[in-house]
Amino acid sequence: MSPSAFSRRPPERTMHSDNDWRLKLTPEQYRILREKGTERAFTGALLDEKSNGVYRCAACGAALFTSVEKYDSGSGWPSFWDVVDQGGVELHDDNTLGMHRVEVTCSTCGSHLGHLFPDGPAEKTGLRYCINSASLALDRDTAPDDVRAAGEPT
Ligand SMILES: [Zn+2]
Repeated sequence: MSPSAFSRRPPERTMHSDNDWRLKLTPEQYRILREKGTERAFTGALLDEKSNGVYRCAACGAALFTSVEKYDSGSGWPSFWDVVDQGGVELHDDNTLGMHRVEVTCSTCGSHLGHLFPDGPAEKTGLRYCINSASLALDRDTAPDDVRAAGEPT
C-alpha cells in the first residue's frame, strides 16, 4: 500500500488555536467540527459514498471509520456500525435540544463528529455512529485492513 498523505499517529491534541481552525477549515466544517453543528439531513457529500477507504477526521486526519462498517441507515447522515479503534473517539453526554444523546468527538483533536445511537444493525454491533459528512475526509488510498491491522495505539 502506498503511504498515506496523513500520518498514522497524528500530532497531539490542541495543536491549533481557534483562529488556526478558522483558517484551516471551511465555514461549514468550522460550524460543525468546532461549534458542534449538524449538517442538514440528506445533504452531506459522503452520505451515499460507497468507495473503499478510510474515513478520517476532517480536522486532524486521524483514522476514525472505514468503508467496511459504513451502511445506509436511512437517517440522512453517513452511518457506521463501528469505529476503527475505540480509542479514536470520545463519547460525551449531550443534553441539548431537550433530549439525551451521546455526542461523538475525535479523541485526537476534540472536534465534534456526530452522535451515537443504539439503533444500529442488530446483526452487527447494534450501534449507529451518525456522523456529519463535513466532519469526515475519505482517504481512498488507505485500505480498511491497513488501519485495522496496524491498530491505533490507545
Ligand atoms: Zn480530529
